[in-house]
Amino acid sequence: TARVGVLALQGDVREHVRVLGDLGAETALVRRPEELARIDGLVLPGGESSVIDKLSRAFGMQQPIRDAIAAGMPVYGTCAGLILLADRIENPIDGQESFGGLDVTVRRNAFGGQVESFETELAVDGFATPVHAAFIRAPLVTAVGPRAQPLASLPDGRVVAVAQGNLLGTAFHPEVSGESRFHARFLDLVRAA
Ligand code: GLN
Repeated sequence: TARVGVLALQGDVREHVRVLGDLGAETALVRRPEELARIDGLVLPGGESSVIDKLSRAFGMQQPIRDAIAAGMPVYGTCAGLILLADRIENPIDGQESFGGLDVTVRRNAFGGQVESFETELAVDGFATPVHAAFIRAPLVTAVGPRAQPLASLPDGRVVAVAQGNLLGTAFHPEVSGESRFHARFLDLVRAA
């Protein structure tokens, strides 16, 4: 069976482990390069992207994760995880870097702070019914390059979910609203890889 890792440096790791487990996947927490070598796919959780970035460099994980992405490992990032997958961050703080891979530009905290968090119903490419999406200090995808493809947009057209090959990113948190279809899609990528 496929073994999927959740990068467990900071953020809502537990919620992802639960959704993946409910879908029948074997999960592992990933903090070290050697743990990365034992998984078939990786989830980058929500949290604080600048902190996850800093810790990933402190733990010697940045280059191994970049190498895994370049080698085609399926990776799904939610919120902070989407920021970490983006090739370009419009407003990085503190010399913040990303792993990259998704040909998109993101803007962190695009909707404002915690009090501007909101939930909404979203139509998603390939899903029969809308997704209940929770946006928590969420980023926006402000530019989609030619290699990436938008999967979902707000009613005003602003992009909040993207896919590119084996990479998947959502500005919102399906793992906190009982929505498992993105994780199921990610597991399909893992099984096919
Ligand atoms: N604002 C956070 C960041 O910039 C993301 C918030 C989240 O993951 N819910 O990383």
